[in-house]
Amino acid sequence: MKHICLISTGGTIACVPTENGLAPEISAEELVKLSGCGSDEVTIDCTDLFSMDSSNIQPEEWVIIADAIKERVGSCDGIVLTHGTDTMAYTASMLSFMLMGVPIPVVLTGAQYPAVYPDSDGRRNLTDAVLAASSLPGGVYICFGGSVMLGCRAVKTRTTSLNAFESINYPYIATVHDGKCVLLHTPKTIKGFSCSTSIEPRVALIKIYPGMSPELLDSIKDIGMKGAVVEGFGLGGMHNYRRDHTESIRRLMAAGIPVVLTSQCLYEQSTPDVYEVSRSLKDIGVISAHDMTTEAAITKLMWVLGRAHDVESVRRIMDTDIAGELTE
Ligand code: ASP
Repeated sequence: MKHICLISTGGTIACVPTENGLAPEISAEELVKLSGCGSDEVTIDCTDLFSMDSSNIQPEEWVIIADAIKERVGSCDGIVLTHGTDTMAYTASMLSFMLMGVPIPVVLTGAQYPAVYPDSDGRRNLTDAVLAASSLPGGVYICFGGSVMLGCRAVKTRTTSLNAFESINYPYIATVHDGKCVLLHTPKTIKGFSCSTSIEPRVALIKIYPGMSPELLDSIKDIGMKGAVVEGFGLGGMHNYRRDHTESIRRLMAAGIPVVLTSQCLYEQSTPDVYEVSRSLKDIGVISAHDMTTEAAITKLMWVLGRAHDVESVRRIMDTDIAGELTE
């Protein structure tokens, strides 16, 4: 008999139609009843943590979620967290860092359509997530549309289709069908569980576009940002003439604000090493996100800034694989 803790936080899976649109109101108990995910082989212990559209999930909620999971590690075989899909990849990435080395599976799931709708994907997703949480090795995952992904490699790539998430630059962990969770790839084992929720949310995420004013980058210092992730073009290029972004990034780094360079492309790695236009970014010490997703890069930077304060220490941790988010 497996013992699973189900923690609900809201999202479409828990929504009901209201006068003002879909609003999350269904409890975890009701989700279990609707999905029929309980069985003779599993007991499910339900907690309603909060009931929010995930557009409102922020660093404060991440800390509450991580603490709730930490409290349950040791008293159950796995945890299922129901969550809105819109920011699920951010939460899964942040939990991967906050709960580094978690010894049991923590499986996030949700739905594109409310579980109360007759043809909702939510009931299947929840049943699949319970199966995944009963059988996978320790780690943070997203289970959605029959696929299980490492939480820090998942990205929401579709607004309405049932296969809303993809695993980026990393193999799928498992597939769930016909009541079976089939392991496809075993993630690396991280020894020693620590729950570390100290983070620095004052981090900017800036997408470069043709003609963007470099003052936009400069301004993040004036509004108190402590770090930035910059999405460059392709491998990580950006203007270095007429409007010189490189010079703005140099000023930020010199002021002790670490800048992480990532790509606007979803797949494959970013690097300032290849093109002349971005070589000076390397010279000024921009930190490469390598093949991390933007969701992993921004949440990792918040987490790293919660424990490291100078640019070189931040670089060292950003360059180190913590939870499978990075190919070293
Ligand atoms: N707006 C919803 C949310 O993220 C969307 C969903 O759950 O699919 O909470």
